[in-house]
Amino acid sequence: MSEKKRIAAIKGTKDILPKEARKWQRVEATAKRIFELYGYREIRAPIFEATELFEKGTGETSDIVIKEMYTFKDKAGRSLTLRPEYTPSIVRSIIEHRLYLQPDPLRFYFIGPMFRYDKPQKGRYRQFHQMDIEVFGEEAPAVDAEIVEMADYLLKTLKVTETEILVNSVGCQGCRPLYLKELREAAEKKRALLCPDCQRKITANPLRIFDCKVETCREAARGFPKITDFLCAECEANFDSFKAHLDSFQISYIVEPRLVRGIDYYTRITFEIISAKLGAQDAILGGGRYDDMMKVFGGPDICGTGFAVGMERLVSLAPFTREAEDFLYLAFLGDEAQEKGMALARFLRQNDLECLIEYKERSLRNQISRANKLGARWVLIVGEEEIKSGKYQLKNMATGNQVEVGKEDIIKVIRESA
Ligand code: AMP
Repeated sequence: MSEKKRIAAIKGTKDILPKEARKWQRVEATAKRIFELYGYREIRAPIFEATELFEKGTGETSDIVIKEMYTFKDKAGRSLTLRPEYTPSIVRSIIEHRLYLQPDPLRFYFIGPMFRYDKPQKGRYRQFHQMDIEVFGEEAPAVDAEIVEMADYLLKTLKVTETEILVNSVGCQGCRPLYLKELREAAEKKRALLCPDCQRKITANPLRIFDCKVETCREAARGFPKITDFLCAECEANFDSFKAHLDSFQISYIVEPRLVRGIDYYTRITFEIISAKLGAQDAILGGGRYDDMMKVFGGPDICGTGFAVGMERLVSLAPFTREAEDFLYLAFLGDEAQEKGMALARFLRQNDLECLIEYKERSLRNQISRANKLGARWVLIVGEEEIKSGKYQLKNMATGNQVEVGKEDIIKVIRESA
């Protein structure tokens, strides 16, 4: 006897079922409209890339590269990785297509899945989705402030409340080495309190200790020196100007010197927007500046900044009011009525009305009760009488009113009652 084994979704992934997908569509449509209002255009890159792209871009000391990548060999033996984040792909694409030679602004947005082999928990998945925006070639901290303002506007439009904006500067190649030296010394003194992972980070990249979620490491990190006390004059002026722009937008923020973000490439400004409603995984979005990445990939010396929003977390926070679905359920009785009904449904759809026919044989009563269950606002009844007369019964499910209408008037009656 063959055993029937049920195949389940892979751990850390989830299905977005139709009702939930509606919410996603709303959130995505709002975000796209806002990004376009700020001059961003969509870019789409492949889901997998050469592994080297992320090793080089995301950084060899990041948790993502060390522990979390979905890396595999294809049939030709190439090492490929399902993208864990988007920025390296965009930078690759810009260089490959020499987009910087175009007159268009280098402002892009993107929406799609990301893959990280992390421990699944509430708000953390192995396949999750991000909306990403990136700006290239704009050095002024005004643009960093503008993208924070855009993120803030997106959240306000989606009615996401009780959020906090955290900002920091992680310095530049000039001032960071001295800070790293001090940080390493401070971490060395607390070595015994740190987890084995963080002990390794002391030498590899002590900044990454701030990413650790182990409570003893977090406690130790609270006493570590702050990068904001080590910024060079230029980085400090840059950070001050960023904050002044936020002030003039009347956007409140908190300076969080431990906000170094989990990725190696950040330079100067970093930020995150968090919500206490999310629990332990509290970041809705995060981003910052990465002025050196394009150069590292052998491209021109063009700076970049941007952020990534976690879709699962954003959708969970955005209240969703279900609009009355303006759709019509077409009920029919008999073969001839089915033919006529199919033609009518085609006509209604071509006139922009959502229209559903189900072909399973049912009594009229059952069809109306189905329409009711599905939340249809209208039922159009097509029976023998209706075919003969060319007039159909159109029932408004909200009021119970029923009117007799000819084909041409169906749309009119529906639109007028809206
Ligand atoms: P990051 O690319 O790590 O800066 O993440 C940007 C945003 O993506 C975060 O603020 C989260 O909202 C979201 N995010 C990151 N990792 C995950 C994950 N494993 N599952 C769900 N959302 C995530």
